[in-house]
Amino acid sequence: MTDHPLILVIEDETSLTTLLRYNLESEGFRVASVENGTDAMAAIAGAKPDLVLLDWMLPGLSGIEICRKIRRDPETHEVPVILLTARGEESDRVRGLDCGADDYVVKPFGVSELIARIGAVLRRARPGSDASALGVGDITVDLASHRVVRNGREVHLGPTEYRLLRHFMEHPGRVLSRDHLLEALWGRAVHIERRTVDVHVRRLRQALNDKGEEDVIRTVRSAGYAFAD
Ligand code: CA
Repeated sequence: MTDHPLILVIEDETSLTTLLRYNLESEGFRVASVENGTDAMAAIAGAKPDLVLLDWMLPGLSGIEICRKIRRDPETHEVPVILLTARGEESDRVRGLDCGADDYVVKPFGVSELIARIGAVLRRARPGSDASALGVGDITVDLASHRVVRNGREVHLGPTEYRLLRHFMEHPGRVLSRDHLLEALWGRAVHIERRTVDVHVRRLRQALNDKGEEDVIRTVRSAGYAFAD
C-alpha cells in the first residue's frame, strides 16, 4: 500500500460522495468516484483502487452484483470492498450474503466510524504492508510501484504474473502446489483449470530469464513449484 491508499467511491448520492471525498482526503486517502453501477467495473479496472466503498442501491448494476463481479474477476478479486447500505434496506441480510464484501456500514453512518472500518479492512487486506519491497537473490519487487527488477534490468510482467512472483517471493523455498497457487491468485470461489497455473508460471519464467539468467522457479514433479531460496 502506498502512503495514500486510493479509495474508489461507487455511490449515486452526490452529496454523500462529496462528504466522503472531503473527509477521506483530509485523512490522507486519495479518492476516485463513479455514480452508477454500469461504470463501476471499468473504474475498478482502470483506477486499481486499494479499497472500494460500494453503495448497495445504485442505478444500473446493484452493489451486490458489482461485488460479485469484483470477486469473480481475477484482476480485481483481491480488492477489499465495504458495502454501504441504507437502514431497513435489507441491511440485516448483508452479513449473510455471500457476495464477498469485507465489511458493511449502515447509513446514516458517522464518518469517523467509516474511516476506522476502512483502516481495519486495509490492514487485514495487506498484512505485510509494512514492507515496501521484496528481494530474493538478484530479483527485487517494489510493492508500491509494482516495479520488478532483475540484475539491474526492469522486468515487465502482466498482473497475474506479478501476483504469482510476489506470492513466490513471500514463500521462498516452499513447494507450492497448483491448487495452492490457484487459491492464492484467484480465490476459492473461482473455478480455473490447474494447467492455467502452468501457463502463468511459463510466462513468468520467460520474463524473468529473458537474458539467459538462472531459472529461479523449480518445477517439483507431481507437487508444484518452488521459488529459489
Ligand atoms: Ca444509492
